[in-house]
Amino acid sequence: MITKAFAKKILCLEQEKKNDCECKSCACFLGGNHPDYFVVNENGETIKIEQIREITSKVIEAPIISNRKVYIINDCDKMTVEAQNCLLKTLEEPPEFAVMILISANENAILNTIKSRCMTIKFGPIAKEELKQYAMDKLGYEQMSENLLNSFGGSIGKAIFQKEKQAQFLQIENIVNILETR
Ligand SMILES: [Zn+2]
Repeated sequence: MITKAFAKKILCLEQEKKNDCECKSCACFLGGNHPDYFVVNENGETIKIEQIREITSKVIEAPIISNRKVYIINDCDKMTVEAQNCLLKTLEEPPEFAVMILISANENAILNTIKSRCMTIKFGPIAKEELKQYAMDKLGYEQMSENLLNSFGGSIGKAIFQKEKQAQFLQIENIVNILETR
């Protein structure tokens, strides 16, 4: 998904950060065992303070193979208020090398104090027509009934994110560049 592509680029050791890069960082990342890449998922409907403490307690430790460490918090709106406040302390004084990516479909559930310390990238829903066109042009479907279209849910949407949402990719490239020159 787009977040993984983003994380891989941030961690990459090469200047050019090509998609098919084979540097040590990219190889580890693709192998699923990058020591500087951390993902937090909900655990029984919420993200608890213990889960956040687990990452914030080690956030100041230097990265092992990359120049940065990347933390992804999926469904970050599921963080309890205690978890959010715990994370906030790190967001207030993050070590230079740490990049935290918070993903949410419901920003109303996130404390303003957290939001004010984040750069925001918004992803809109993919229009049905766009999905249909994509499936027919690129995925070889000859017909597309309404039911079939509805049944697709997210998976083709993700493909569209990757290929068609160039604007977000450019924005991400820009952020990577900002991080590089900081
Ligand atoms: Zn690389």
